[in-house]
Amino acid sequence: MTKFVYALSEGNKDLKDLLGGKGANLAEMHNMGLPVPPSFTITTEACKAYLAEGAEPPEMAAQIDEHVEKIEQEIGKKLGDPNDPLLVSVRSGAKFSMPGMMETVLNIGLNDKSVEGLAAVTGNPRFAYDSYRRLLQMFGKTVLDIDGEKFESVLDEAKDAKGTKNDLDLDVDDLKKIVERFKAIIAEEHDTPFPQEPKEQLLEAVRAVFRSWNSERAVLYRRQERIPTDLGTAVNVCTMVFGNLGQTSGTGVAFTRDPASGHQGVYGDYLQNAQGEDVVAGIRNTMSLADMEGVDKAAYDELMGIMATLEGHYKDLCDIEFTVQDNKLWMLQTRVGKRTAEAAFKIACQLVDEGSISEAEALQRVNGDQLVQLMFPRFDESAPKEKIGKGMNASPGAAVGELCFNSPKAAELAAQGRKVILARRETNPDDLVGMIAAQGILTSRGGKTSHAAVVARGMGKTCVCGAEELLIDVNAETMTLPDGTVMKAGEVVSINGTTGDVFKGEVAVVDPPVVQYFEGTLSESEIEQDELVHAVHRLMTIADKQRALKVRANADTGEDALRARRFGAQGIGLCRTEHMFLGDRRPLVEKLILAETPQEKQAALDALAPKQKGDFVEILEAMDGLPVTIRLLDPPLHEFLPAQSELIAQHAMAQARGMDLKEDQKKIMAAVERMHEQNPMLGLRGVRLGLVIAGLFEMQAQAILEATAERKKAGGDPQPEIMIPLVAAVQELEIMKDAIRKVAVEVSEKTGVDLTQVPIGTMIELPRAAITAGEIAEAAEFFSFGTNDLTQTTWGFSRDDVEGSFFSNYIERGIFGVSPFETLDQGGVGKLVEIAAKSGRETRPGLHLGVCGEHGGDPASVHFFNAIGLDYVSCSPFRVPVARLEAGRASGTEEGSDFR
Ligand code: PEP
Ligand code: MG
Repeated sequence: MTKFVYALSEGNKDLKDLLGGKGANLAEMHNMGLPVPPSFTITTEACKAYLAEGAEPPEMAAQIDEHVEKIEQEIGKKLGDPNDPLLVSVRSGAKFSMPGMMETVLNIGLNDKSVEGLAAVTGNPRFAYDSYRRLLQMFGKTVLDIDGEKFESVLDEAKDAKGTKNDLDLDVDDLKKIVERFKAIIAEEHDTPFPQEPKEQLLEAVRAVFRSWNSERAVLYRRQERIPTDLGTAVNVCTMVFGNLGQTSGTGVAFTRDPASGHQGVYGDYLQNAQGEDVVAGIRNTMSLADMEGVDKAAYDELMGIMATLEGHYKDLCDIEFTVQDNKLWMLQTRVGKRTAEAAFKIACQLVDEGSISEAEALQRVNGDQLVQLMFPRFDESAPKEKIGKGMNASPGAAVGELCFNSPKAAELAAQGRKVILARRETNPDDLVGMIAAQGILTSRGGKTSHAAVVARGMGKTCVCGAEELLIDVNAETMTLPDGTVMKAGEVVSINGTTGDVFKGEVAVVDPPVVQYFEGTLSESEIEQDELVHAVHRLMTIADKQRALKVRANADTGEDALRARRFGAQGIGLCRTEHMFLGDRRPLVEKLILAETPQEKQAALDALAPKQKGDFVEILEAMDGLPVTIRLLDPPLHEFLPAQSELIAQHAMAQARGMDLKEDQKKIMAAVERMHEQNPMLGLRGVRLGLVIAGLFEMQAQAILEATAERKKAGGDPQPEIMIPLVAAVQELEIMKDAIRKVAVEVSEKTGVDLTQVPIGTMIELPRAAITAGEIAEAAEFFSFGTNDLTQTTWGFSRDDVEGSFFSNYIERGIFGVSPFETLDQGGVGKLVEIAAKSGRETRPGLHLGVCGEHGGDPASVHFFNAIGLDYVSCSPFRVPVARLEAGRASGTEEGSDFR
């Protein structure tokens, strides 16, 4: 019989796949002897079965009963006992944390009878009825799918009648009436009354949590965070402990270090007389953890001890949810906490310095996406700015945008390419769409542990929360400033998530210190003194030392090449030569296309050659001593001619004026018509151009080789590699290679520099090339995988069209989790790369292999390329540090060295 339910003593922190993060860590804490309320966990397997079959596995209910009985024995109370009932919570908990995205039902076990028992044993009828109304409300909304507003409006009416806005002002009689009205809503909306039988409540709640795995916001969150859709959630059934029993009780969230700034020292929020949901929702303002010491010293001291124990045990920043019930501390959750990119780098190095982890482990605690965050621009300190408020620095960064007060609207504006700041009193999980769409998030309520802060940090999005002096009215869509000025939707604000400052209007941005570090403009002592920069420096050094994969850059100009080099590129993996045919060279390209005789053609090529040579000299000089892979012309030639529509319009205008086009315009028009292709990406491009347009590739090769000779004569160490694009058959490459070798002999003779050894290789960017790579390697001296075209041609997706048109549909339907143009499709395109790498090296042992498609700078793809033994990846200069870091992480054997 499959085991679907685990006692705490049967779990541990490594069973996250089965027990979810929360369940695995509750078990771990229990086994460490920490005070965890008696609990058990229903596995993700049960959830997956439920979602697949529409019903739970038949043996699950009996296993739950068995574990409920064990808890009943342990604490001496029975579920549903009319005199002194056991109450339990039912909480979701997936392998990866999805804060607030799934469901929770508290106070299971209360019914019309046991509520009286609870009132009697606690001597607190108000508490008992408040707990009952919470159960009815959560059960109604979550399990029975009744619109939550129906319950909220009853509560609001009751508060209005009392003239208060605070739930705590409702007395027991008010709550009894609310309970009756809630029950009536359920009976009316659901046809059957609220189930009085606790076991039925429990089973229904478990099913609802299973279903919440597929709620709209959970699906959206997973897509955003790239969490696989098929993991399912575990469900934790925990004995209720109450933080809302009065002032000697409370609930809080704590971090063993500051998750926003990475500062050492505990950090958190505490709320007296409250339940957990009240803290996370950010509805009431909390006190800091330090202030908790003043209200409950014993519980505070115990908590501090436990936090130190947990950090020592997990060797990482932990976040914790706890409750104090009548001065007794209970641990409700812990996990290795989410943190900002800045905190991640700092904390990894702090832990090394504290002797708790090795340098290699520290490298696994950060990732390329976080490094990208640190390279985003920040506000210019010296720029003029008008500060209008200050909140908590909940998630760092600089964001500028127009105010928008509602989430769907924010998504709509962002889709039009507008930049928005989502301004809300507080956010709740339904705001996820707006948070994803916005540049930054601004709230007037809630602390660093509020929903907005937790989710924004997880997404790496700038967030300022709890800016109380800014009155945000989401209905009126206004924000009133302390001086009475009213800002409306559409007006621009700038928010600084690193300091919490809010400014009116647009504030100028500058490069952050981490970019200055990569640019090489910081002195050694400046690096030393800035904790973040120093941490980046240390971890990059470890990555560089450890990685096998080399990192090159895609750069087409001397300037880009220099920046790439400063950023640590070990050469150029792709120099696209097409821009050398643009600008003032366009007329020369036109001449080439329009040439009618071989002489005219040669004259056009002769005019282009010196200009190209000049470009190559510049690039080879910038990358002196390092390899530079130069790709011969790839795009169809008509891309260099005016668009057909433009010419037709010119023609029509001329005719309207009773005139005709000039002779050369007519020729161009005829050429454009002649060269028009239905599918230019599958047309006359790449090596086909070299074969069809006599002399074109030879001219480019000559320019490269002459530039090389010139650099050598100037005392340089140029290392060009000539690359032929879009080869499908070895014959194409052989013909081109022979032609280029001939040029090499000629240029060698002319210049007196031996250029016959310059490597000539090819791109592998067509499925046929990948499949016949063994043959192609007979001619190719290196391969560079053009994974952009390879993805395009393997999937049959036009790369310029599909992403914006139907990819969101594909992602929503789970056909893929992320665009295959962004992260390599390992199962399809990756297979072709693997086949080509293997068969290429069988033909030519030691064949040098690289990647120059966009995937070369994508963290997950870098891990894949490393795993299949490629020699290097090449990416845009700005992503070079990311690729270096990920290549270092990929070569590690520590936990976490797989991608994530
Ligand atoms: C590729 O196809 O992956 C590639 C690098 O070439 P381009 O993007 O220029 O087609
Ligand atoms: Mg290509």
